[in-house]
Amino acid sequence: MSDCLFCKIVEGKIPSESVHSDELCYAFNDISPQAPTHVLIVPRRHVPSIAELDDAALGGHLVMTAAAIAKRLGIDDGYRLVSNRGKRAGQSVFHLHWHLLGGRPMHWPPG
Ligand code: AMP
Ligand code: ZN
Repeated sequence: MSDCLFCKIVEGKIPSESVHSDELCYAFNDISPQAPTHVLIVPRRHVPSIAELDDAALGGHLVMTAAAIAKRLGIDDGYRLVSNRGKRAGQSVFHLHWHLLGGRPMHWPPG
């Protein structure tokens, strides 16, 4: 999608701090981190949100990649993986992404 921020990041048209890259997904540091570690994991192809995800292998790959990144970044003792679906839940970029948050205690319930 030509007007999608994360498509542009995946294509390298907008700069980002790369954390991981493979044939299916790209991961980069969030520009406005909400924890000491805050990484976004996105599919390379445009999927608006988790509600439109139609590929179980891709979904599994995104989640397992997030877990591998958490191990590599040393936050494996406790992290949160969250995907906001819809404006009501706080989604602001309509290209599916997982937030990987760690490096500080996490509280429950979330706001
Ligand atoms: P959400 O609100 O769940 O859709 O998450 C979108 C996330 O994208 C927010 O945490 C933003 O801080 C982040 N974000 C927006 N623009 C950029 C950018 N250019 N580079 C990295 N992260 C971004
Ligand atoms: Zn996109």
